[in-house]
Amino acid sequence: MSAKQTSPRPQSAADPYFPTHGDVRYHVHRYELTLDYRPAPNRLAGAARLTCLTGPDPLADVVLDFADFRITRVLVDGRTVRWTHRAGKLRLRPARPLRPGAAFTVEVHYSGNPRPVRSEWGTLGWEELEDGSLVASQPIGAPSWYPCNDRPADKAAYQMSITAPSPYAVVANGRLLTRTTRASSTTWVYEQPAPTASYLATVQVGQYQQLQISAGPVPQTVYAPARLIGSCVHDFAHQPAMMSLFVDLFGPYPFGEYAVVVTDEELDVPVEAQGLSTFGANHVDGRRGSERLVAHELAHQWFGNSVTVADWRHIWLNEGFAKYAEWLWSERSGGRDAAAHAAMAHAKLKALPQDLVLADPGRSLMFDDRLYQRGGLVLHALRGVLGEGPFFALFREWADAHRHAVVTTADFTSLAQHHSSRPLHAFFTEWLYVGTLPPLL
Ligand SMILES: [Zn+2]
Repeated sequence: MSAKQTSPRPQSAADPYFPTHGDVRYHVHRYELTLDYRPAPNRLAGAARLTCLTGPDPLADVVLDFADFRITRVLVDGRTVRWTHRAGKLRLRPARPLRPGAAFTVEVHYSGNPRPVRSEWGTLGWEELEDGSLVASQPIGAPSWYPCNDRPADKAAYQMSITAPSPYAVVANGRLLTRTTRASSTTWVYEQPAPTASYLATVQVGQYQQLQISAGPVPQTVYAPARLIGSCVHDFAHQPAMMSLFVDLFGPYPFGEYAVVVTDEELDVPVEAQGLSTFGANHVDGRRGSERLVAHELAHQWFGNSVTVADWRHIWLNEGFAKYAEWLWSERSGGRDAAAHAAMAHAKLKALPQDLVLADPGRSLMFDDRLYQRGGLVLHALRGVLGEGPFFALFREWADAHRHAVVTTADFTSLAQHHSSRPLHAFFTEWLYVGTLPPLL
């Protein structure tokens, strides 16, 4: 697979929904995380090495988002620097400002008991389980376990080396390079070379067994507690067919592999990470009761993970596409067609308050179910306007033109216009920029 390397779009301002997260003055190009995790005391010790690039201005200080860990050592370009750490910000002051366009490295050594970030959507980031841990960071949980430039547009490659007690399996983003057991601990080294947003980096630790559900062309593996393996064999049996369908519809799978982790505990919703998704024990019932969610999480690998929002205002480009992928899987696998799903979603939304503006829902509504439903609906309405051929060509071109890059709603509407002979301005205005629900024609 040829990964087109697109540099992140220069951003001049902070994310309007999370103005205190991220620093637009520099870019992290690669994270190397060396972690040691002990599940029983929930103790994490780590070293993070970041390879970075300054922007167009000299940089007098480097600001990272990072939770309340005990920090023992901080280096910039191999030299110790002055630093402060308060209110979730680690601020480093090199002896001299870093030159514009200069490459530099940051190294942070730390330890502590990781705790999730509390938010209006529940807990985010590193979370201790009964027996292990998970990481699900969308949108702002990443600083709960490593120092980062926490904004979705700042994508980087990741290498992670995680040591844990040997009975535990450790699953992280990308390909497993090595697994080495010494005494009672095992070190797992993973590499994710594709540009990855900080919220999509993850580590999962648990007493999991491994179930390979496809050897190729995209290797697909499920990690689950022994008691759930039988149900997983049945519940994820359609995932290889979903993968083939989505490759047909959206173009090549963007990463080297796909892993699913099923935790031993219940989760509110499954969550996507780069090349990986996490499901709760409650999403596996041996009857494929959550199959639409299997499709939803897989679709995020294209829409959200490869094609990533430039900032969180554009979240419908993640969730609307993943929702529509659910409907497409249903349609193509002998279930209800997308038109029937759209009609049901439309009836449901009609009965609810119509104050949600898809292209800028505001922070408090960014995970509102109406955003998911209306996001799927606008795509279905567009399918009706463009016709089958141009609509699916647009879907595929969207995934291809912005592969491993970041996007805005305006990028989508302008690409859609290229696939339409009639002006789409009025169509997009009523679907994306106005709260009132348009009729579904
Ligand atoms: Zn989703």
